[in-house]
Amino acid sequence: MVKQVRPRNESGKELTLTFHEKRRGKPPRHVADLGREERRALLQEMGFPAFRADQISRHYFAHRTVDPADMTDLPEDGREQLVGALVPTLMEKVSEQFADGGRTLKVLWKLYDGVVVESVLMAYPDRATLCLSSQAGCGMACPFCATGQAGLTRNLSAAEIIEQLRLNMKLAESGALGESTRITNVVFMGMGEPLANYRAVQQSLHRMIKPVPEGFGMSARNITVSTVGLVPAIEKLAAENLPVTLAVSLHAPDDGLRDDLIPINSRYKVGELLDAARLYYVKTGRRVSIEYALIRDMNDHKWRAELLAAELNSRGKGWAHVNPIPLNPTPGSIWTASTNSATRSFVDTLVERGISTTVRDTRGSDIDGACGQLAAEVVDRDNVARRAKKAQQAVEARLAQHREEPKDFADQLATMRS
Ligand code: SAH
Repeated sequence: MVKQVRPRNESGKELTLTFHEKRRGKPPRHVADLGREERRALLQEMGFPAFRADQISRHYFAHRTVDPADMTDLPEDGREQLVGALVPTLMEKVSEQFADGGRTLKVLWKLYDGVVVESVLMAYPDRATLCLSSQAGCGMACPFCATGQAGLTRNLSAAEIIEQLRLNMKLAESGALGESTRITNVVFMGMGEPLANYRAVQQSLHRMIKPVPEGFGMSARNITVSTVGLVPAIEKLAAENLPVTLAVSLHAPDDGLRDDLIPINSRYKVGELLDAARLYYVKTGRRVSIEYALIRDMNDHKWRAELLAAELNSRGKGWAHVNPIPLNPTPGSIWTASTNSATRSFVDTLVERGISTTVRDTRGSDIDGACGQLAAEVVDRDNVARRAKKAQQAVEARLAQHREEPKDFADQLATMRS
């Protein structure tokens, strides 16, 4: 079943967002889809002692291996079949591209059914971050994002998400980025809307955080889930007791413009979204990241920085951190990144109002590996380009009314302050 919602934008045009994939086959069963008890029960069902599940899990999560030859603590007789049944191959590397002097690596993975996704690994002096995909494609249709213009192909399973991490850990640890590197951070900022694939993402978070043999034992605070703003799912995540960092892709502080830039805003408005983000902070104690792609003469006006600061400050101090990101080029885009001076002024306006702000670097933009660029190789580039251009032109046609500072702006700000 394909579940779609059709919010209307201001001009009354219907927008179609896709929340559920078309029914497809399932990826093969894999230990990373199961919790520890489920794995033990499965092995018992298969006629093996339950502790074999822990042995295989330890190989998988601690040693990152699925090779029966490495698993010498398992009886040789039947080892291959057992391992093949529990940790089957879920994806294969199709290609890899390096950038930033070998410190960024984008990998294209082919899944069991031929669908492809991308991940991006980035090494920094003090950490290494994996940007992974939660869906093949994305149903959220943001006009400035190549993945969004490609549409949703399907959700990934928890194990498909976790396999991206394990395979990248192996690559990093074996020196793909220069020296042997441990992945310390994970961001769900690759292809897809993680909160539209809630259950698999939640399961994958458990596998990342729980200690060996249940999972990789990563620190929850080093994991970031980024969302376009699915308010009920943010509230659900806040109640999970999983203190991961939440990032909200805001991109505009006013509904007029955000309705056009982020179609789901027709359903969940800026105010509700920021309330949910604030609730997330209160429940988890984790400061929320506000992502803001700076698009030239679109959302980079000083008054919008003032409004953003007022919206954040009206909900309390120090609970959010703003990450402006200069817009990355995508196929067919008629929009470009803000000028340096507009970027500086936007940042200064926020900082002067007490909002902590860091401009995000755009790693991997020359290999289409940066925010919003994933998918370029995955799908028909011309089609994506055509669609993006059309979507952006439609926004442009309605834009005049959103560029100017609203007439009652000073009053609006004053009301928020009081
Ligand atoms: N769907 C989730 C996860 C994707 S994360 C989300 O929207 O948060 C990718 C981030 O890059 C999001 O903040 C997205 O809005 C941003 N992005 C998309 N296209 C971009 C572009 N062309 N330039 C810069 N950032 C972009």
